[in-house]
Amino acid sequence: MTSVRRIQLALTDEQKAILDGQSKICNWLYNHLLEKANSLRFEYRVTQSEDVARQLYTQRGLRNMIPDVKTYNKFLCTVHSSPLKNTALRLSDSIQDYQDGKHGRRKGKQTGWPHFRSWKKKWFSLLYDEPKKGFLVEGKNLKVSLGQTENGKRIRVALKLLESFPSEMVGRIRNLRITRDGSKRYFAVFTIAEKVNVSVSDINKKPKIIAFDPNHKNLVYGVGTNGNAVEIHNLAHLKRMDTRIDELKSRRDKCKRKSVKVTRDDGSYFWKSSRKWAFFNAKLDEAYRIRREQTKTFLYTLSNQICKEYDVICMGDYTPNGGGITTKMRRSMNNQSLIGRFKKTLEWVAFRSGKLYIEYNEKGTTRTCSECNFVVKNGISPDVREWTCPNCGYYHIRDENAAKNGLVNTIQDKNLLPCSGHIPAVSERWVWWVTSSGVQSALRGCDGLVIPNTAKKLNRRNANSSIQMCV
Ligand SMILES: [Zn+2]
Repeated sequence: MTSVRRIQLALTDEQKAILDGQSKICNWLYNHLLEKANSLRFEYRVTQSEDVARQLYTQRGLRNMIPDVKTYNKFLCTVHSSPLKNTALRLSDSIQDYQDGKHGRRKGKQTGWPHFRSWKKKWFSLLYDEPKKGFLVEGKNLKVSLGQTENGKRIRVALKLLESFPSEMVGRIRNLRITRDGSKRYFAVFTIAEKVNVSVSDINKKPKIIAFDPNHKNLVYGVGTNGNAVEIHNLAHLKRMDTRIDELKSRRDKCKRKSVKVTRDDGSYFWKSSRKWAFFNAKLDEAYRIRREQTKTFLYTLSNQICKEYDVICMGDYTPNGGGITTKMRRSMNNQSLIGRFKKTLEWVAFRSGKLYIEYNEKGTTRTCSECNFVVKNGISPDVREWTCPNCGYYHIRDENAAKNGLVNTIQDKNLLPCSGHIPAVSERWVWWVTSSGVQSALRGCDGLVIPNTAKKLNRRNANSSIQMCV
């Protein structure tokens, strides 16, 4: 398992130009290899030669062509071997995807034969896939090796990260990807091997523990050892953003994607989209970007708050699968992927703040009574939000019961609390939601309604994170 850490780069114009140059060269190499692949494909159709197949269809076939290409195109030497190699691997992967799709080995949408890439339209990212090879990170400094000069001297650039990279995680970096987004901002994206370094024994004698039950109605519902239950609401205007995205999508799809047929010199052709289609497509990309940014801020604000209040955070391990493909379920799937992102963010923030993050086995937590352990046969339907235990008569709030079971299970499983793992009954029920000024909370009465005038702002650790409210 890995997680991803994306940090923006603060670059001078000169450094931007250097990275753009590197990216352009990789883009050139991609197109050059694709040209070769196209002719190999043609050749294979005619000759069925095994040698050709090996070059075209194996994982490393195209990569092995690079040294040869390099001898005739010296400028490739100014790029580090890792991004060059990965350019070839990327093309081979696309070809493999196409082949797999064609032969029914691939689930999902069939992908086409790879296209030539336009650098102007999309920046070609630079991937350094081996740890400690070609890059070095230390605090806010990122040193990246480029290729060599004509007289064999290694070229390096020293880049600045906007946020410091935690030193204790440096050893777990798996790879580095340098990217540029639509707004011409540059990022260093690190893939980090996951390992929770904080152990139970590091946590103090009376840790504050909370268990969360992820669900569909809200984001998560948690029960803590401090007798507090917390219901965390989804980002309020997420629905509005989704409506806007749907609207843009439908307007775009009403326009012609294939408007003008453009024929190349060699007789092949491609379709150019209409200006209107391109216009809505750009708007849609922007809407997606905003949605991504806002949910990110939302998840970080929330995670910071949770880690501030609790020492151990337990989370149900339920992972959404792509089983239900009906369009009806799409929106709820969106929420599920949000939970997936929330878990990753929370794990990262917990790690960064020296707190413990644990996932517990969620199986049966909903249908088991947390008071008497009675198991309801056939489970409880998702619409039932509250129920009474047929065995002991305890009145349960569905999500609270599930979270409570998660809490008890984790505490017993990990021996988290000295002596018997007793948890106090829930004494206060809170609702949390995130607004542009941070995490807000309010008490909930026994009737389940929010008690007026109890709303208050929780103190934030991270003062500069805020949610923009408009789309
Ligand atoms: Zn019961």
